[in-house]
Amino acid sequence: MHGEFTGKGVRYAVSLSERELTVRRLCASGKPAAVFSLADCLGSRAHPGEEEEEGASTSASFSAYFYPFRRRRWAGAGAARHRVEQRFRVSSSGDPRADLEEARRWARAIREGSLRNRVPRTGAVCAEVQRPCRVLLLLNPQSGRGQARTLFASHIERMLQEASIPYTLTITERQNHARELVREADLSQWDALAIMSGDGLLFEVVNGLMERDDWEEAIKTPLGVLPGGSGNAVAASIHHYCGLQPVSGEELLVSCGFMLCKGLVSRLDLTSVCMASSQRLFSFLSLAWGFVADVDIESEKYRHVGAARFTLGTLVRLASLRVYQGKLSYLPAEESGSPPSPEYSTDSLTDVSQPISSSSDYSDDSPCQNHPLHNSCNSNNALKPKRTNPSVLGPPDSLLMPLDQPVPAHWTVVKNEDFVLVLAVYQSHLAEDLIAAPASRLEDGVIHLIYVTAGISRAALLRLFLAMEKGTHLSTNCPHVVYVKARALRLEPYSPKGTITVDGELVEYGPVQAQIHRSLARLIAG
Ligand code: ADP
Ligand code: MG
Repeated sequence: MHGEFTGKGVRYAVSLSERELTVRRLCASGKPAAVFSLADCLGSRAHPGEEEEEGASTSASFSAYFYPFRRRRWAGAGAARHRVEQRFRVSSSGDPRADLEEARRWARAIREGSLRNRVPRTGAVCAEVQRPCRVLLLLNPQSGRGQARTLFASHIERMLQEASIPYTLTITERQNHARELVREADLSQWDALAIMSGDGLLFEVVNGLMERDDWEEAIKTPLGVLPGGSGNAVAASIHHYCGLQPVSGEELLVSCGFMLCKGLVSRLDLTSVCMASSQRLFSFLSLAWGFVADVDIESEKYRHVGAARFTLGTLVRLASLRVYQGKLSYLPAEESGSPPSPEYSTDSLTDVSQPISSSSDYSDDSPCQNHPLHNSCNSNNALKPKRTNPSVLGPPDSLLMPLDQPVPAHWTVVKNEDFVLVLAVYQSHLAEDLIAAPASRLEDGVIHLIYVTAGISRAALLRLFLAMEKGTHLSTNCPHVVYVKARALRLEPYSPKGTITVDGELVEYGPVQAQIHRSLARLIAG
């Protein structure tokens, strides 16, 4: 499409191709044309002309909203998305109605072009959200520095309008409010559930969905994350998976807002975490004990400093470094072959790109069939997949034995029982600036298990956390730091009191075990 329009008093030649909108000044200014990629476009709208004084009126116009990357001004500081609106007046025909029709034609073509140019960058995109996408957006006003509402109003509200996404904003009133809402909601009303908060509110949403009788369908509702908290690990992770340069704060918010509006859906692993009381939780981020769990909880009181709360908490904890005794066992990923992916991993989502096919044709090759120790599996009921607690909803934990029985013989039991920290993560980031498992992906079916044994010096532990800001901590050759890939694990702390966190949230303390369930959930992350 080609046209000549006016923008801010200047005449432009505008052309729209399959991938780009090109804008050239018509007067001979010598300025090069501006080229906007439709992959960076959120949407476009037409505006009718406005009545002015004395019967005169302005002509109809259309706007296109782009969020291209712009290099930051200071050296070596990378690039971040920023907003550029292009608005043009249409006054070619002299007939206001024909001009408005022309403006609408352009807006529609740009919108459709922007939808066709959604580039899957995570390599794991499996579907698009329904259009128009009706979003239930849950916002925790207490998250982070208590600014989530303001941040929503200053960035996200406008982006959702630009992308023509109808949404309902619900401000949570207390802890577990979102969990209860999601547990009871009529999900047929929503094409996506989004949170604006830290990881804690996503934890509520995931567990609310898994507590429903229809959990198997409910957990496939695409989830969106908008970082408004102090611990925005999932937001930082999905940004990282796109191969983008690290950003934080409001730049990360704009990046995640852009992804939410584009609506590309990826599969997401969930880890089921079972406690001694038979309670079972679903986790998308981490299970921590020792140093990291203590920092998680102790740093709550520094939430006014935002994402820096973890750095502050780490320094305070380093001063009172201690050893945590217990037994750690795990099922190594290589031992168990492909991650178990029972029948729930198949779904009716429309495939939009090739990469997913490699992971969508799972065979049920649980270790029960694969492992040499389990050739006699059929005759051994004790090793058959089963629920440790049949009243709990969700997929059965085929890799776990009941907590009061020993772990299966082919698991690895860590000899050392003196730890400084045990951290299981299934996303790359543990916080906006902590890349705990750089190799982790949304649906790799892997628990990235990192543990640090006693004897590490304060200086070495500090170096470890500093290196984690770049994600280089796993190649520092410190003998006290161990990194393994696992499918399941069990942790049995010896002390009667202590702290265990799941996705940064405090959970029941005591023996705990976990297994990863590949591709159980859906996350808007593309
Ligand atoms: P942050 O990253 O700042 O910690 P989270 O999203 O993790 O933000 O939320 C922190 C805690 O607040 C979570 O435990 C969450 O369940 C809880 N929460 C959610 N909504 C509210 C609310 N309206 N008031 C108080 N706490 C809430
Ligand atoms: Mg939190």
